[in-house]
Amino acid sequence: MDQETKDSVNAPRADRDSASLSDKRLTRRQAIKYGAIGAAAVAGVGSMAYYVLRSAQRERTASIFKNDAPRGELWKLWKRRGWVKEASHYLQLGRNVQCHVCPNECLLEPEDRSCCRNKVNKDGKLYTLAYANPCSFHVDPIEKKPLFHFLPGTGVFSIATSGCSFRCLNCQNWEISQKKPEETKDPHGDELKFDPKRMDSLTMQDVARLSMFPEDVAELAQFSRSQSIAYTYSEPTSFYEYMLDCSKLARSRNIKNVWVTNGYIQREALDELCNYLDAANVDLKSFSEDIYQTLNAGKLKPILDTLKTLKERGVWFEVTNLVVPTYTDKLGMIQRMCDWLIENIGPDYPLHFSRFHPQHKLEHLPMTPAGILTDARSIALETGLHYVYIGNVRGVPEGETTFCPNCRKPVVERTIFFVRSLNLEGGKCKSCGTKIAGVWSI
Ligand code: SF4
Repeated sequence: MDQETKDSVNAPRADRDSASLSDKRLTRRQAIKYGAIGAAAVAGVGSMAYYVLRSAQRERTASIFKNDAPRGELWKLWKRRGWVKEASHYLQLGRNVQCHVCPNECLLEPEDRSCCRNKVNKDGKLYTLAYANPCSFHVDPIEKKPLFHFLPGTGVFSIATSGCSFRCLNCQNWEISQKKPEETKDPHGDELKFDPKRMDSLTMQDVARLSMFPEDVAELAQFSRSQSIAYTYSEPTSFYEYMLDCSKLARSRNIKNVWVTNGYIQREALDELCNYLDAANVDLKSFSEDIYQTLNAGKLKPILDTLKTLKERGVWFEVTNLVVPTYTDKLGMIQRMCDWLIENIGPDYPLHFSRFHPQHKLEHLPMTPAGILTDARSIALETGLHYVYIGNVRGVPEGETTFCPNCRKPVVERTIFFVRSLNLEGGKCKSCGTKIAGVWSI
């Protein structure tokens, strides 16, 4: 147990109770010392009538990349590799196009590149550049996503291309999420054919040239004995078409599909994806429109809509809330978030509070004090959520354990991402027979 955690866990109950909610975040002086940085906002549109108006707002935030599509030899090579595909869910507006996959609704003139960096307007058509060209793939424990109530103890083949619809100041994967496909892949030289047996010996240069089509992804998942494929690391909504085709193929081979996401997606695109999804982990980054704009360059409401839709469509999901000092560590806001979850989603979808580590544009901030995370967990439990976890903190075993909401006995015990004991039978607590929410077997 680290010292911060010890201090928090061992603090006399009266001491912990006596501090007000707002006292638990960093002091104003600390906040000034660590600083707070603003970020560009991203606009959205709803109908033809305000395309022009909203387009002007978007230019103010410089969210799309003007005249930045690949051209000439690079475009030809990219197409030859099969790394280009016409996008789905978009509108043609004369020679302009507008993507409707996420609420950014990028409006692109010919040769423009989208806010997520992955889509371009070529001759009045919208194309994704992030197809069959993953820049990162790995087999992870499913607990790492994190998904604690979905096929525990299994491996998940995890895959990402570049790109993201957000600009999170604290991004932990900014080396791929804030890059263009051409910055992570190289279409020059010999094409590298996919061979599952060679996967362990690939160099970075090999990965840059490697193509991996949906059938290859499914084959590799099976070869690595993974029961599911996770679209993860960057923002999979930015490689929507690739994720969707992989998901369709995986479903036909009885492999599960997992979406690890910021949840920023439009209803129609989500509905199509839900036809093939088995589970999701959605980042609920804060419970404030202002903070979403400042910290992430996004909006809160679409994420809440996504959670409701996933529930409505019967997709299992878990929610992650990263607690960032001076931004999202206000316990009053965490209380409001838990109230919303109970009221709109119910008590059975797990909530993971996760510790922030200094990175990307917030290197000047400290790690989240463990005491804030344990306080957040207490609030969530007292509000009525049944399953509340703490991530990225060692030495708080109750934060990694699933307890039966009826008899309070541990039903799944974990250490870091590994399952230590499983006291479930047919998805029910072995001690009292209460059903534990989740997907516990194929
Ligand atoms: S998915 Fe990408 S291209 Fe489409 S609206 Fe969102 S940011 Fe823009």
